[in-house]
Amino acid sequence: MTERETLQAHVAEELRAFLTANQMRQTRERFAILRAAYAIDGTFTIDDLQTAMQTMRFHVSTATLYQTVQLLVQANLLIRHPFSSSAAMFESIDDTKPRSYQVCTMCNAITHIKSKMLATSIEAYKPRSFAVTQRIAYIYGTCAKCQRKQRKMRQQQAAQAAAALPPGGTNANAAAAKAKPSANKSTNNK
Ligand SMILES: [Zn+2]
Repeated sequence: MTERETLQAHVAEELRAFLTANQMRQTRERFAILRAAYAIDGTFTIDDLQTAMQTMRFHVSTATLYQTVQLLVQANLLIRHPFSSSAAMFESIDDTKPRSYQVCTMCNAITHIKSKMLATSIEAYKPRSFAVTQRIAYIYGTCAKCQRKQRKMRQQQAAQAAAALPPGGTNANAAAAKAKPSANKSTNNK
């Protein structure tokens, strides 16, 4: 059995226990969706999960998929990431592996942080009066692409402001520029 198969068998056992404890039906769909979710590496949306189910040739309606994913989040078998992207993002839980993400607040791009130092710190954190179930950290900020976009926008705004303002920006200069339109024009063209 591979590591992933061992994890899939373990979470199937946990789902069985959760359904029994809550007097819910142990449907084939619920277990198939759990298996599909745990076959995906990293974060996924409901659409991604639908595609994974189609690959498994297991047909479920989108409504069933939504309800089941919600159930799996309740059962602590999936996490719903608190990202502000338009589509909700989910991920399987493997509490043996600490995870960290950097999230761009402008475009919602999510990248997995591969930092041994951060992973070691997350793993080493042992609070006294708090029982940890998932070791996940989020770092929010602006991605490289959005930083470039911001710089470009600032440059454009500065150029527009410079073009709109008379040279020097004082009333005296504005009056002088008005008096000498040719001089003003040449300044703008610089
Ligand atoms: Zn971004």
